[in-house]
Amino acid sequence: MGVVAEKFTVKKKVRRKFRIALVYPNVYKVAISNLGFRILYHLLNLYERAYCERFTSESGRSLETGSSISEFNLIMFTYQYEPDLFEIVRWVVRQNLSNRMKIVGGPCVYNPFPLKGLTDYVYVGEAEASIIDFINEVIDEVGEDVLTTLKGVLDLENMKYSGKGFPEPLDTFLPSLQASSKLSVFGDALLVDVSRGCRWSCKFCFGRYVYSPYRERSIEQLTQVIEEGLKAGRYESLVLISADLNSYSRLNELIEYLNELQKRSYKFKVVAPSLRIDNLNEELIEFLVESGEKTITLAPESSEDLRYMIGKKFTDEDLLKACTIFKRYGVKKIKLYFMFGLPGETMQDLESIIGLVREIMKMGFLVRVSANPFVPKPHTPFEDEEFGDVKELKERLRFLKKELKDALSTDGIRQAFLQSIIARGDEEIGKLVVECVKSGEPPTITQLKRNAERLGIDLKEYAKHGSEAKPWKRLRTHYL
Ligand code: SF4
Repeated sequence: MGVVAEKFTVKKKVRRKFRIALVYPNVYKVAISNLGFRILYHLLNLYERAYCERFTSESGRSLETGSSISEFNLIMFTYQYEPDLFEIVRWVVRQNLSNRMKIVGGPCVYNPFPLKGLTDYVYVGEAEASIIDFINEVIDEVGEDVLTTLKGVLDLENMKYSGKGFPEPLDTFLPSLQASSKLSVFGDALLVDVSRGCRWSCKFCFGRYVYSPYRERSIEQLTQVIEEGLKAGRYESLVLISADLNSYSRLNELIEYLNELQKRSYKFKVVAPSLRIDNLNEELIEFLVESGEKTITLAPESSEDLRYMIGKKFTDEDLLKACTIFKRYGVKKIKLYFMFGLPGETMQDLESIIGLVREIMKMGFLVRVSANPFVPKPHTPFEDEEFGDVKELKERLRFLKKELKDALSTDGIRQAFLQSIIARGDEEIGKLVVECVKSGEPPTITQLKRNAERLGIDLKEYAKHGSEAKPWKRLRTHYL
């Protein structure tokens, strides 16, 4: 990967610094769009004794100084998406990192067992809770007994830990001058998390569990960070991150402040990547459109019946009414997220999805649909549900493609299959991933099955039900 045009990259002298490699096991575009990755990078670099540099899957060497990963004292991985396990294994196996100290954090470590043997520590929760103490104590070589007394730090080999770490209240470090690049999915943007967790309880939702409890940043902190960031950073966009921005208790004050800021400084686009229509704030829609954001993203998930079954209680009619409101304020494009292969789904549910999409198209919107198979996630009320039969999922996807043509995008069945075996996997799945990485890549489902057979792993069963032992369940009480 060549040199990336980026602003607010941290530059320090390497000499006498404790060197931390922060690895995002996916491409740069995905890494730079992740607020957690940005926060961690700047937070670690506030610390005098350390210098944190970033790596992504295409970078090979650090983005900051072009150093090799073997020159670092500590390797930290951000593990956001189950198939990224292949990339973590690639770093560990190919770069010969087995003797380097490693820690893996991010949502996927809520089932840490596929990582067994690959990392010394796992960080469960949100890094702000104790990551600086962790670094301090690693530098001072205090020993693992002390490290595992820190909230969030789990010694996976010896199963020692003292529970999930998370800041409460949420007003912890939020950088105003963030490393940013036009290559991010948001373009050149300042990202702020307005809240973490979610007030709703959809039964399939992993994010709600990972980021619980629901917490909000104060309006005082948000306005200060936004003011400083936009004035000095001149970002083109501001992204307000939240599971559902409409739920933020001081939303109207925030909109008023942003309106006023635009009048006295410059025009920046405001993006809200996640909204629920059963809690819609019209002022917000009006404000977003006026700021230049003409796209609204919604997640109806499935047909009305299945939507109610999974705990998202709004009707198709509610959704169409919301679209009328969007139309009134000048929204041009609607992005819709759906799942297929939910428990109890029939072809009628898929037909009902097509019907809904067509209704919205008829209203004059440009509609883009993303549809992916339902993947049961650990710790959710759906953790014991089945992942669909691959052949059947392929047929359903074919049907959706035939009906929706170019309006449809998908990550595909293979990605969902990988997600499914890893999300509810165990140590055996970790071994399988190591085997696949050693024997070449990227693995197709057939290659995975072949490797699994050699290791005596019943892959079909893992995809369908997860590990028979369901080891993450034993940890649950400690995390809460
Ligand atoms: S799906 Fe969205 S609204 Fe539902 S619990 Fe998850 S984050 Fe909240």
